[in-house]
Amino acid sequence: MSAHPSTLDDDVRAALDGVTLPDGTGLGASGRVTGLSVTGGRISLSIQIEAQEAAAFKTTRDMVETRLRALPGVTSVFAVLTSERAAPPKLSPLTPKAKPDPLAGIRHVIAVASGKGGVGKSTTTVNLALALRAQGLTVGILDADIYGPSLPTLLGLHGKPGMADGRKLKPMQAFGLKAMSMGLLVDAETAMVWRGPMVMSAITQMMADVDWGALDVLLVDMPPGTGDAQLALAQGTKLAGAVIVSTPQDLSLIDARRGITMFRKVDVPILGIIENMSHFICPDCGSSHAIFGQGGAEQEAARLGVPYLGAVPLTQALRVASDAGQPITARAPDGPLGQIYQQIARAMMAGLNAAGAGQSPALKLTGDLT
Ligand code: ADP
Repeated sequence: MSAHPSTLDDDVRAALDGVTLPDGTGLGASGRVTGLSVTGGRISLSIQIEAQEAAAFKTTRDMVETRLRALPGVTSVFAVLTSERAAPPKLSPLTPKAKPDPLAGIRHVIAVASGKGGVGKSTTTVNLALALRAQGLTVGILDADIYGPSLPTLLGLHGKPGMADGRKLKPMQAFGLKAMSMGLLVDAETAMVWRGPMVMSAITQMMADVDWGALDVLLVDMPPGTGDAQLALAQGTKLAGAVIVSTPQDLSLIDARRGITMFRKVDVPILGIIENMSHFICPDCGSSHAIFGQGGAEQEAARLGVPYLGAVPLTQALRVASDAGQPITARAPDGPLGQIYQQIARAMMAGLNAAGAGQSPALKLTGDLT
């Protein structure tokens, strides 16, 4: 026996050793635990399984979470089941699931996506959510941007989410919105080394584990990009539609087109393109400069037969407000920028209603989108 006093790491390992797998072996010795991170009182880990073992291992995961939560000094536990050999995403709509839908209380789940990072997807998500809120809707935001979760900063969220009943996480509250972020559960450094399948299972699990209650709209701030992880997330979630955020530069417009193709593959209606940083508003003189050219996103949207939802200018006020955790649409919903987001929110909801009635122009996409 070691003479050292036991640390939380030791306790965690001992707890994992004490969990028995369906085949009778101990979890600790099975080599299935990867990505174990114990930071402060926050624990996250993955349990490697084969895709067909998912149902059998749910009890194991629950047991791991219960045992680790019971350890002194532990404040949160996040265990995910992950299969390295995930089945490739199917390109057909999902068949309805028999089990209860954890998002059943949410009327519309809408993805906010971008082909690449840094285009202002999260800033747009937050201000769009606040615009919908200003119009009287109940709104939640799920920050699924696992590699760069920015919701805690944008909404000034602090602390850790509490537990509602036994297993469900309570969403945080900010500016009248319900919010949950991967950044509140998993360290950025841990998530950085996660591979595609781990990201997917973490996100889908997080969606199911949050007690959202009744919401008119849940906006999902998607991880940037249009790869398999994004495709599977779009497919595994009951999405009412998707909006694409793009800057006017050609490169990111090409990325936006990839995003449109992706959602189209899984039959998710494209509610439209939002052009961010479309023109620069000079803080000194208030004049407007089309630094990246004008009308690119609108023309592209028209070419693709996708609604153009509107343009948000590049303004210093917007950036400063975002960094301070005081989003501009919360501060001044009827100010110049607040009105722009409200206009975009109205256009998006109009498209959503049309899509629900089967008349969305998004469903009539034509042309070469690749
Ligand atoms: P993404 O989610 O696409 O990675 P963010 O929303 O985090 O992008 O935005 C990246 C940076 O750009 C942030 O510093 C944000 O404050 C800033 N930003 C986003 N949109 C605007 C805008 N319209 N005007 C000024 N700054 C913006």
